[in-house]
Amino acid sequence: MSELLNIENLSVAYGAGAPAVNQVSFTVGKGAVVALLGANGAGKSSIMKAVSGLTPATGSAVFEGENISSLPARVRVARGIIYVPEGREIVGDLSVRENLILGGYQKTASERKKRMEMVLDLFPEIAEKVDRQAWRLSGGEQQMLAIGRGLVADPKLLLLDEPSLGLAPLLVRRVFDRLAMIRHESDLAIVLVEQNLAVTMRLCDELHFLRGGRIVGHRSAEELKDETARQEAIDAYLGAA
Ligand code: ATP
Repeated sequence: MSELLNIENLSVAYGAGAPAVNQVSFTVGKGAVVALLGANGAGKSSIMKAVSGLTPATGSAVFEGENISSLPARVRVARGIIYVPEGREIVGDLSVRENLILGGYQKTASERKKRMEMVLDLFPEIAEKVDRQAWRLSGGEQQMLAIGRGLVADPKLLLLDEPSLGLAPLLVRRVFDRLAMIRHESDLAIVLVEQNLAVTMRLCDELHFLRGGRIVGHRSAEELKDETARQEAIDAYLGAA
C-alpha cells in the first residue's frame, strides 16, 4: 500500500502548560483506515485539527509527497483532506441539500451534483429528507449528513472525529457499515478518532493508542481479533490514566 499521509513529530500546544499533542508520528496508506484511540483529553481532536490546518502545530505533515505543514485549511481541502468534526457541526437552519452543497463548495456544479447523488444513494435515510431543515433530523441522520457533507468534497483522506458519539449501537453499526462500503469502492483513506475499541475494529486496519498527547501503543486490527490480545490492549492503553 503506498503512502498517502506521513506525520512526523507533530506537536500542538495551546498555552504554557503541557502540550496537547506531543511529538506524534504516524502514516496513513492510500485507502487505509487508521484509528486514533484514547480517553477524553488525550489529544485526538487536536491531531485532526492540526492535520486539517485548523490549529497551529509544529512537526511535519506530508500528503502525497508534498509538505503541507504551512498550507492553509482551504488549500488542504482542495488537496482532498476533509475533516468531519466531533459534534457534527451541520448548519441546523439550512436544509439537508444546502448542507451538502456547502460540503462541495470548492467543486464545480456538475462534480458536486454527481457527488451529492452518490451520498444520497449511500444514505437513503437522508435522501428522503433533502428539503428538511437539518436540525429536524435525528442524531443518527445528522451524523450521516455530516459524513455525507464531507464526502461531497470528494476526499482522498477523511478525518472523522468520533462519528459514534451519541448514537445508539444499531445506528453506529449502520454508519460504520456504510463507511466500510465506500472505502472499498473508492480507495478512500480514513483517520478515525474513537474512544470505543469494539466500534473501531469494524472499520480500521491499524490502531494507535493515545494518552497525554503521546502515542503509547500500536496494534493492527488483525492482532486485535484475538480476544485476549484485545483485552490486554484495553487494559494497557484505555484503562485509567
Ligand atoms: P475529546 O475526546 O474530549 O475531544 P481529545 O482526545 O480529542 O478529547 P483534545 O480535544 O485534542 O483531546 O484535547 C487535548 C487537550 O488540549 C485537553 O487537555 C484539552 O483541554 C486541551 N485543548 C483542546 N482544545 C483546546 C483549546 N482550543 N484551547 C486550550 N486547550 C485546548
